[in-house]
Amino acid sequence: MINQELTTEKQNAKSNILTSESIPHTPRYVANWPGLIEAYRPYLPVTETTPVITLQEGNTPLIPVPSIAAEIGRGVQVYVKYDGLNPTGSFKDRGMTMAISKAKEEGAEAVICASTGNTSAAAAAYALRAGMKAFVLIPDGYVALGKLAQALVYGAEVLAIKGNFDQALDIVRALAKNYPVTLVNSVNPYRLEGQKTAAFEVVDKLGNAPDWLCIPVGNAGNITAYWMGFCQYHQIGKCDRLPRMMGFQAAGSAPLVVGHPVAHPDTLATAIRIGNPANWEKAISVEQASQGSFNAVTDEEILHAYRLLGREGVFCEPASAASVAGLLKLKEQVKDNATIVCVLTGNGLKDPDSAMANTDNHFKSGIEPNLEVVAHTMGF
Ligand SMILES: *Cc1c(COP(=O)(O)O)cnc(C)c1O
Repeated sequence: MINQELTTEKQNAKSNILTSESIPHTPRYVANWPGLIEAYRPYLPVTETTPVITLQEGNTPLIPVPSIAAEIGRGVQVYVKYDGLNPTGSFKDRGMTMAISKAKEEGAEAVICASTGNTSAAAAAYALRAGMKAFVLIPDGYVALGKLAQALVYGAEVLAIKGNFDQALDIVRALAKNYPVTLVNSVNPYRLEGQKTAAFEVVDKLGNAPDWLCIPVGNAGNITAYWMGFCQYHQIGKCDRLPRMMGFQAAGSAPLVVGHPVAHPDTLATAIRIGNPANWEKAISVEQASQGSFNAVTDEEILHAYRLLGREGVFCEPASAASVAGLLKLKEQVKDNATIVCVLTGNGLKDPDSAMANTDNHFKSGIEPNLEVVAHTMGF
């Protein structure tokens, strides 16, 4: 069941990943969390001389969501891995702490990425900490305002192109080949190494791997990284099973579901508005090795899940809610008493426009500043 190819390939590529004999290692949770590179150092391709560029990312909560579990019933337990609580508000920080640390180690002075928003925010923040310049290419008009604000505040050079993410990625790949800039998109293998630590955290908290791991899929870096993490932990006996990897794409942007690139991807979940995933082959290997599947969820289903999560006190961005939307869509396939983890990739605060446009709750405005009027409006 383990995808040997993915894991051994990675291990051979990096000099100092330790294997099963190396173990006795307990991550330092909560108190003095040092960031994920220090917490999981034995499992990551870093050496004593790697400069660790960190904002203390990782160690994000795994929150039970009982109202969502109740929609499935049959003793099923559902948790959300709330990675929107990372320092720049998305899981991209996990990959970026590794990618920027390694770029710094290799002497890079500038990094570049294409981004639907969160990669640019993370790249900008970590590059800044490393004293490097960050260039980011974004699709003009399709990046949530909070993400754009972050990239600017963190001092990146932001270039909005009149095209979509896939076109931006083609350009930055060519730029990184021809100019002295390091590419930090998820085709950079260090990104996946950092991101796999989310799977470690899930197993460290649950004591085993879940039955299903539900996750939104854009470029398919994160689903690949989680699988690497579960496989690595499984090999050294930290868990005795592996999850089925359930990837969800937005219906208007679902190349892995339809089986071919989508020229004009369309969805309000802008973080996964990607028509030609950079990690396509890896994604298919993960699907096969884990007996998982890729499925599409409509924007309506995404928004429904987004609102349900809000009512659990968990505010994620629309793309993140695709994991929960997908779980609810496939709920008949869930085994009795299963444990399920849905990955919430980004924070809802990044995209307040979507929130205001899609909440069914409204605020009352124009109220006189008068006790009786306010009390009356409150229903007293
Ligand atoms: C990047 C991103 C995704 C997609 O992750 P991939 O690794 O590209 O599949 C999903 N949700 C959010 C919020 C993201 O920022």
